[in-house]
Amino acid sequence: MGKRRLSLQQERRIRAERARALAANPHAGQAELRRGVVVARFGKALEVIDPDDPLAPPRRCHMRANLEPVVGDHVLWQTEAGQGIVTALAPRRTLLRRREGRKARVIAANVDQLAIVIAAQPEPHPALVDRLLAAAEIEHIHPLLVINKCDLPGTRDLLEIGESRQRLGYPLLQVSARTGLGVDALRAHLEAKTSVFCGQSGVGKSSLLNCLFPNAPARVGSLSEATPKGRHTTTVSRYYPLTTGAVIDSPGIREFDVACADESDLMQGFVDLRLLAAQCRFRNCSHREDPGCALVDAAAHGRIDPQRLESFHQLRLHYRMQP
Ligand code: GDP
Ligand code: ZN
Repeated sequence: MGKRRLSLQQERRIRAERARALAANPHAGQAELRRGVVVARFGKALEVIDPDDPLAPPRRCHMRANLEPVVGDHVLWQTEAGQGIVTALAPRRTLLRRREGRKARVIAANVDQLAIVIAAQPEPHPALVDRLLAAAEIEHIHPLLVINKCDLPGTRDLLEIGESRQRLGYPLLQVSARTGLGVDALRAHLEAKTSVFCGQSGVGKSSLLNCLFPNAPARVGSLSEATPKGRHTTTVSRYYPLTTGAVIDSPGIREFDVACADESDLMQGFVDLRLLAAQCRFRNCSHREDPGCALVDAAAHGRIDPQRLESFHQLRLHYRMQP
């Protein structure tokens, strides 16, 4: 049977009824808007949680065509014909972006803390630590330095890398996913913040996350089942809510490259160098052999860690060489 068209009279009657219902209850007939936080995105499908009840199961939603939510986004959503639809995005506090060729890709929103994990194995690269510190500074995200595998011998060099950066004001934790050392302290640092773990492959990020969230794999499993194209769980960002705070995990985030526009942007990522750089004699100082370079002078007199200046130069070259 085809759709029956309403007569004008019927339409008028329905409208009058709606108006009466609205007068009695201003929210009647209007889908209730709810707040949500995006915990996963698979193509055009999202999962959102209730920020007031973060540990309740997530709700699957679609989204309006003009929106590009990412994990960590705060959204408004409503139910339409039994289907959750995200209709609005809240302004983002911070944006974590990775560099992909010439482009910067947004990977997570509203990240408060970047946990930079290093370990005795694989051998740490101070310049990589400084690159991640710079990324955090540029995006206004607080870094947290985590030395994992403290059960292994040979952590002395590592401590030097960590402690030199700790003196710049960055918190430093020594942990072991294997023995559980420092894991409670790490958990305490994650409270009431949204954190991301990053660092070289093999430093033990997954092990630490498993230690912190022993129940997580079940949730990841249920998500991949719901994905029509199969198992996407290893490439998709995932937001793990805590009682207060959250951790965002994704292989794409774990080994990302800083997205910064140019050299002066890069300098903004070095808290210990950026103010000194303004005191160099020449405005276009290359901070190498130039006369009157405040950075070279500070490094020579032990007022800054020469390794930090070296990291800056390495990263500068790295950006020059990018396509
Ligand atoms: P990811 O690539 O950073 O996620 O690193 P994984 O969590 O996969 O760990 C890499 C390897 O390091 C695995 O063989 C782990 O068992 C090992 N590992 C992780 N944490 C520790 C630790 O605290 N101590 C020791 N000795 N080994 C660890
Ligand atoms: Zn200089």
